[in-house]
Amino acid sequence: MTNFSRRTFAGGLPLAVLGGGVLPFTHPAQSVAAPAAASVTPLAQIRLGRFTVTALTDGYADMPYTFFPGRSAAQVEQAATAQFIARPSGVRFVFNQYLIEDGERKVLLDAGPAGSIGQTGTLPQALAALGLRRDQIDAVVVTHMHEDHMGGLVVGGQNNYPNAELYIDRRDVTHWTDQAKRSGAPDYLQNSFRMSAEVVRLYPRLQAIDGEREIARGISIIDLTGHTPGHIGVRIEDAGQSLIMVSDMLFPVVHPHATDVGFVFEQDRAAAQAMRDRFFPRAAADGALIAATHMPFPGLGRIVSDRGQLRWQVADWALQA
Ligand SMILES: [Zn+2]
Repeated sequence: MTNFSRRTFAGGLPLAVLGGGVLPFTHPAQSVAAPAAASVTPLAQIRLGRFTVTALTDGYADMPYTFFPGRSAAQVEQAATAQFIARPSGVRFVFNQYLIEDGERKVLLDAGPAGSIGQTGTLPQALAALGLRRDQIDAVVVTHMHEDHMGGLVVGGQNNYPNAELYIDRRDVTHWTDQAKRSGAPDYLQNSFRMSAEVVRLYPRLQAIDGEREIARGISIIDLTGHTPGHIGVRIEDAGQSLIMVSDMLFPVVHPHATDVGFVFEQDRAAAQAMRDRFFPRAAADGALIAATHMPFPGLGRIVSDRGQLRWQVADWALQA
C-alpha cells in the first residue's frame, strides 16, 4: 500500500506542481513537513437496480498538449488552464475500470495499462481493496485493443484472469492481429499490436462480438465504432435505471464541448468524430448516466446542454442511496 500511495500521489508529479498546490497556504516561517499522504485506493460505487458498479483505477498518465488533432497545443493548454487542470506535462488521463456485479457474476470492463504507460499498475490493489482476486472475475469486456485497456490481461506471459471469458469486438480482433497492419503501423501502436497477439493466444475463452448484443441479463454491448474499428461500450439496465460505459468516446479538457477535436491514437478521425456527433447530443437529450475511462475518477457524469454548449456534468455517486 505504501508503494501505491507513493505512485498515486507523488509519482511523476513535477515538484513545481506539488509546490504550487501546497506552499501558498503555508507561511514559510512556520513551515512544517506535511504528513505523508494517506494510503488510499480510490473506489467509487453506485447501485443501479440489482447491479453494483464499482469504479476502479489503474493509475494515470499525462498526454502532451500536442496529442489532440483539430486544435493546436496552445489551444488545448488554454482550455486546460480555463478549467484549472493545466499541468506542465499535459492533460491528465486517468485509467478507470468498472466492475459490474449482479449478485451472480463479476464482469470487469477493461484491464488498464498495467504499467505500460504512465503511473499505472494499481488495478490489482484496487481489486484487493474489494477483497477480490483476479481468478474470481467471470468475464472481462475489452472495449478496444489499445494497450491502456488490455495491458493488465497478460502479466509475465501468463493469462492474468484465468477464469474469465473475454469479450472483444471482432473488428478489433481482426484489425489488431493483422500482420500487414502491424507492419505499417507507427511505433506508438506497436505495443497494442504485440499485446493483442498475446491476448488472443492466451485467452481461449475469447468471444469475438459481432454487433450489439446482451452478454448477460441486463448487460449489453453497444457499438461505438470510431476510436478503433471495433470500439464498443457496455450498457447496463435494471429497474428503470441505466448506465452507459463509453470507454474512449470522450476525453478530458476537449470533450464534450467540441466533437471535431480528436486524440492522436484514434484510428479514423472522421469516424471517431462522426460517432461523437451522433452520441453527444443524444446522450444530452436522454440525460444518460455515463462512465468514461479517461475522465477524472470515477469518470461518472452526464453530457448536458448548457445555453447551447455541451459540457460534462460530474454525477453524484457517494451518499446517494
Ligand atoms: Zn484509452
